[in-house]
Amino acid sequence: KRVIGTKTTSRADLTLSCFSTVSNLQRLAGKVAVITGAASGIGKATAAEFIKNGAKVILADIQDDLARSVASELGPDAAYTRCDVADEAQVAAAVDLAVRLHGRLDVFHSNAGIPGRIPQDDALSVDLAGFDRVMAVNARPALAAIKHAARVMAPRRTGCVICTASGAGVVPMPALAMYSVSKATVIAVVRAMAEPLARHGLRVNAISPGATRTPMMLNEIPRLAVVSPGLSGELRRMVEEGASDAVKVLEPEDITRAAVYLASDEARYVNGHNIVVDAGYSVHKGAEN
Ligand code: NAD
Repeated sequence: KRVIGTKTTSRADLTLSCFSTVSNLQRLAGKVAVITGAASGIGKATAAEFIKNGAKVILADIQDDLARSVASELGPDAAYTRCDVADEAQVAAAVDLAVRLHGRLDVFHSNAGIPGRIPQDDALSVDLAGFDRVMAVNARPALAAIKHAARVMAPRRTGCVICTASGAGVVPMPALAMYSVSKATVIAVVRAMAEPLARHGLRVNAISPGATRTPMMLNEIPRLAVVSPGLSGELRRMVEEGASDAVKVLEPEDITRAAVYLASDEARYVNGHNIVVDAGYSVHKGAEN
């Protein structure tokens, strides 16, 4: 038995109270976040996890009806705004909305993305228009997010940007070549902008998910079958049975925990990094090459 204050507490009670403190901990209490691509998949799961951790979240997307219904499911701490991330003015407006609604912005999660056109793997017919589009939605918004989030965060010298990259940005996938380039660019933007942001007391980091069970990934499996039956089959097996512990499909919730960490004050000295959440897939693929 140990005495805490005037109360006598057994070891079992102590253990229980430690666990309940941890599970009730609101790691983002009082923070305000904008999450792009929040109508679906990883962004939607991240919005739910941020709110569970005490944040207020503005969901930004282009699927109005879906995003509105997600926001109303998530309750009073969620709001929706239409934001096409390819348009800098709309990214700026999402930032300004956070300040108008809540007086501050602590986290901008640049998460929206598209897979790009298929086929992409023929060197003799590189689709430059397709490349421009995938860069406009996947890569350029990382810089727009940094620029406009920093505009409102810098005066308070606190806040961070989180960018969703991809395992394909770490180990390129030839069948998704333009997508891989766009995601490698996101990782490069994060590394390049960490120091300029640090001068304002701000941070930026990336998360690179492996294959994650979302509408985007599930839709890619039949599309990929045309150009890469091997990759398509591997993804299908990962979804249906899980090939091994290192080669398995993740759930969106597996990615959200990295986002909560990066958004929280626990990560206050983490800047310019890329957290790869892929059950070891990229290491496994790197070792194969
Ligand atoms: P998803 O399709 O479920 O969600 C993507 C969301 O982005 C959708 O709600 C869509 O409406 C939105 N979006 C698309 N274009 C937009 C635009 N121009 N402006 C604003 N919103 C837009 O897909 P997801 O798998 O949850 O993808 C989220 C992020 O994770 C993407 O950046 C994706 O590249 C990345 N990612 C996904 C996987 C995976 O296996 N699912 C793996 C690695 C990286």
